[in-house]
Amino acid sequence: MRHSHPSQKDFIMAHAAGRHFLQIPGPTNVPDRVLRAIDSVTIDHRGPEFQKLGQEVLGGLKAVFKTSSPVIIFPASGTGAWEAALVNTLSAGDHVLMYETGHFATLWESMAKRMGIVPEFISSDWRRGADPAAIEARLAEDRGHTIKAVCVVHNETSTGATSRIGEVRKAIDRTGHPALLMVDTISSLGSIDYRHDEWGVDVTVAGSQKGLMLPPGLSFNAVSDKALAASKSAKLPRSYWSWEDMLGPNKNGFFPYTPATNLLYGLREALKMLVDEEGLDNVFKRHDRHAEATRRAVRAWGLEILCQNPAEYSSALTAVMMPAGHNEVDFRKVVLEHFNMSLGSGLGKIANKVFRIGHLGDFNDLTLMGTLCGVEMGLGVAGVPHKKGGAAAAMDYLSGGAATQNARAAA
Ligand SMILES: *Cc1c(COP(=O)(O)O)cnc(C)c1O
Repeated sequence: MRHSHPSQKDFIMAHAAGRHFLQIPGPTNVPDRVLRAIDSVTIDHRGPEFQKLGQEVLGGLKAVFKTSSPVIIFPASGTGAWEAALVNTLSAGDHVLMYETGHFATLWESMAKRMGIVPEFISSDWRRGADPAAIEARLAEDRGHTIKAVCVVHNETSTGATSRIGEVRKAIDRTGHPALLMVDTISSLGSIDYRHDEWGVDVTVAGSQKGLMLPPGLSFNAVSDKALAASKSAKLPRSYWSWEDMLGPNKNGFFPYTPATNLLYGLREALKMLVDEEGLDNVFKRHDRHAEATRRAVRAWGLEILCQNPAEYSSALTAVMMPAGHNEVDFRKVVLEHFNMSLGSGLGKIANKVFRIGHLGDFNDLTLMGTLCGVEMGLGVAGVPHKKGGAAAAMDYLSGGAATQNARAAA
């Protein structure tokens, strides 16, 4: 059937030409090199060839976490690594201090409750990162040291706010409180600067499908000595998630149960790209730059960025508020059908109100421009009130203003 205004939808059932734009903040676009690395024969995970792979990825990961401590790899989504962090370090009835940065922090908190942990949840309006002063105030009150851990989401993927973990560490230190610090970096690791050792983090939780540019299916715990010591006396039951079971065989590059061998091939390739070739500092600068270009586009459209603290703007994604009376679900549907691009939805209490532009992972200036052009055209097709010129503002920023000036000079 032909429409007067043909959209991608007319072709999707048969074949949609060109690449799908996967601009949700995870899973992200997987580079061809990583896909090719995964497309290799699965080997004996107890054999000598595997050992080399195991040692390479277990050792190589430390650079991304900026740690000299062990990093444990689970064949699981990020949620599994959340659970591993809790069950290895805590006992039923333990209090933990958690911070309501958004939807993911809320999910972690409900998981803690289900495990028999008692979370104290510092509430927030989902428009900023965790407030170090609020954490400091609560810990200062806790003279009996009832609170066993402070849990913070580094990059809150539902809101696009990045918490200042270095400052949270300093706030904890000012109180002299011995609580463990556990940080979710599922959507920041490999795209936003993160320092497990320097920031004195005890457990860092991460996942494969966001900044690390891999498919879903791997997740991680980086574990400090203090966390390891806590795991010796913590009483929550653990089996699949047991650090101890992992760390023994990991010493020689092996795993206690079948690892996700093919994803580990992909991980080896991704680490090569991020750490050895591009270099982490360049990776972070690239993300900062694309995030700034995106915010300029959003402002030029006359739309509002959800995060209200510029010091906490996320470099991995930007959450954008829909104008009153307009629904993000309808808007994203238009973008998918017309331009074959997936944008992130509003989650939890901001469902229907916010859409999210993922600008992390395997991403360059033209991927960003394709993304922003798709958003701008989608706003037009969906009839969402906005001003033109967002994509142009981003182009101007990305080209250092020179392109615009030279165009004017030529005119
Ligand atoms: C994606 C994400 C999760 C959940 O990870 P899954 O792999 O879906 O289990 C948790 N926290 C944050 C911050 C995330 O971005």
